[in-house]
Amino acid sequence: MKITIGDTVLELVQGDITQQNVEAIVNAANSSLAGGGGVDGAIHRAGGPQIMTECRAIGGCPTGEARITSGGNLKARHVIHAVGPIYNNGVSGEAQLLANAYRNSLKVAVENGVRSIAFPSLSTGAYRYPVRDAAGIALQTVAAFLKDEPHELQLVRFVLFDGKTFGTYGTILRAFESQTAGE
Ligand code: ADP
Repeated sequence: MKITIGDTVLELVQGDITQQNVEAIVNAANSSLAGGGGVDGAIHRAGGPQIMTECRAIGGCPTGEARITSGGNLKARHVIHAVGPIYNNGVSGEAQLLANAYRNSLKVAVENGVRSIAFPSLSTGAYRYPVRDAAGIALQTVAAFLKDEPHELQLVRFVLFDGKTFGTYGTILRAFESQTAGE
């Protein structure tokens, strides 16, 4: 499924983010940038040790922010390491921090001249953010950035690993599309 915002395609696919042929992929990193399971482990395995060497030199990244490294052996030239919040009870500022993680990733991408970027579903794995809420924040934040900020992005792709997450993002994007259809 895809929609167009200005000159940018925003699309959802089901798949593995490490295989994407885009200029930058986003990693669901932790604040120590020390690697981990889930998408983080997959990116370091596929990209090779160069990415970890660069992460160590950066040292860490606060929740809600993002840092860039090279893509190592990946097709993507860059990895943008974004730190989403650990979901606690939903009233500890998680929504704002998750929105910040998406916004700051896009900001770092734009600063580095990136024209195509792929995101995983930040925070909805080990960090337990409810997928429906996280999908709403992800899609709203990206759409607002594409509308409001200067950028040269041609493609923003969400790469959802499992069918359930892919389905939920699809439902939210369709609802969002029908809401904004008359604008
Ligand atoms: P977090 O710690 O931010 O919750 P996780 O990596 O545990 O991050 O999970 C985030 C999402 O990434 C989950 O939906 C998970 O299924 C998904 N995921 C895991 N491996 C991959 C992959 N190779 N490509 C894309 N998404 C992936």
